[in-house]
Amino acid sequence: MVQILVPQLPPAALNDCRLARPLSAHSTLVSSPILPLEWLRPHPLLRTLPLDDEHVVAFVPSLSHVAVLNQAALALLERLPLSAAEELGSAAGALHAMAARGLLVAATQPSPPAPPPSPVLSAWLHVTNACNLRCSYCYINKTTARMTPEMACAAVDTIVDTALRYGYREVALKYAGGEPLMALTTVAAAHTHAQTRCAAAGLTLQATLLTNGTMLSPARAAQLRELDLGLTVSLDGLTLSHDAQRPDRRGAGSADTVRAGIANAHAAGLAPTVAITVTGASIGAVPELVAWLLEQELPFTVSFARNQECSRERSAMLAEEQQIIVGMRAIYATVAANPPRWSLLGTLLDRADLSYAHGGACAAGKDYMVIDHEGHIAACQMVLDQPVADLTHPDPLGAIRADRNLPLGVPVDEKAGCRDCAWRYWCGGGCPIATLRATGRTDVKSPYCNIYTALFPDLLRLEGLRLLTRGE
Ligand code: SF4
Ligand code: SF4
Repeated sequence: MVQILVPQLPPAALNDCRLARPLSAHSTLVSSPILPLEWLRPHPLLRTLPLDDEHVVAFVPSLSHVAVLNQAALALLERLPLSAAEELGSAAGALHAMAARGLLVAATQPSPPAPPPSPVLSAWLHVTNACNLRCSYCYINKTTARMTPEMACAAVDTIVDTALRYGYREVALKYAGGEPLMALTTVAAAHTHAQTRCAAAGLTLQATLLTNGTMLSPARAAQLRELDLGLTVSLDGLTLSHDAQRPDRRGAGSADTVRAGIANAHAAGLAPTVAITVTGASIGAVPELVAWLLEQELPFTVSFARNQECSRERSAMLAEEQQIIVGMRAIYATVAANPPRWSLLGTLLDRADLSYAHGGACAAGKDYMVIDHEGHIAACQMVLDQPVADLTHPDPLGAIRADRNLPLGVPVDEKAGCRDCAWRYWCGGGCPIATLRATGRTDVKSPYCNIYTALFPDLLRLEGLRLLTRGE
């Protein structure tokens, strides 16, 4: 009997950089399910990877959804195109399912176009410069300054007006800092206003608070639940490796407090996503953290720290590359031992998302505004010190897109090294700021490219194994 397993995509969790997956993402790749069945044949770029003696994971890099097929389904693929009416009738369900995933195409189907423009405008509200931690990779010059609630509402007005002006259908807000729980009154005012404005404007709103998790008391967790806010908590290890990267002001570790905060969030009915940032130095301890998160059934994202420097020795970069590849494979082995219910395609390989086609790794430079506590507007939170507009500007997104000093929005199709890459619409070409730091340019492939290309097949096999275990 033909068996085809496909993942159910969860609502995409937002972390600091993750591209907000549009709610319409499912339909952007799906081939017409009403193609005449006798026209269908395997996509010319269809690939499979073995999972066990009976199953493979099947996909067309960048272009299809991912599915697990059994040997009967593979045998059916090999017999295509079918012409006998009887055979077509008995295989119709399987053929429709594979065509709808983009694994089969009509012989006459033209090559797919580049992904459509994103319908989502993302925005980061930097509600405070204050933070109670001193993380080693933090880029904020900390002060006690905060955004006032009035400024936050004005920022929301600018975001909603921009969304309407440019024809976006969805808005994704990230409340961040510094530590945004140190300015919760501002967050509450902004989010209540955003809910009202988006509802009135017919815009879908997704929002999350990006926190270090140390101030998640039961009362604050209850307030976030009341506000209907998503929650993303940074945690880089269970104990020592987290404490080394994320100490408090006095140098003491924060891992235990963060885990207590996560427990409080859970008890309040929130479903926090844990954002893990890995470095060559910390990655060895991440499997232990991942095992704990899987036991707790907590979703998580894994991203690489953006610390590549132009001046680094090539040998040092290659050593770290190997360290990260080996470390990521250890993380994947941990996931394979206790696979979660949710799909992993969008969360376990830095900025890459293998669940749908997209034209860049993040929204910076085209579909993104970062607004600081004084109303200055920049293209990315990493370049808050280089704003291109403020809240009085008539078209801040236009100013970001037109900025030639920091061209962060170069589409993956225009990056040297990426434009002919088979993975490009799943990868997006990596973080443009990391690329800028490593190469001095943003129109070339990511310094993490070798890591991505080494790990894409591992991640696809992991998703296949997860599907076999979980069935969805
Ligand atoms: S960074 Fe590498 S893997 Fe990603 S799209 Fe560019 S060439 Fe492909
Ligand atoms: S440019 Fe890099 S740091 Fe900025 S939003 Fe994009 S991925 Fe994140």
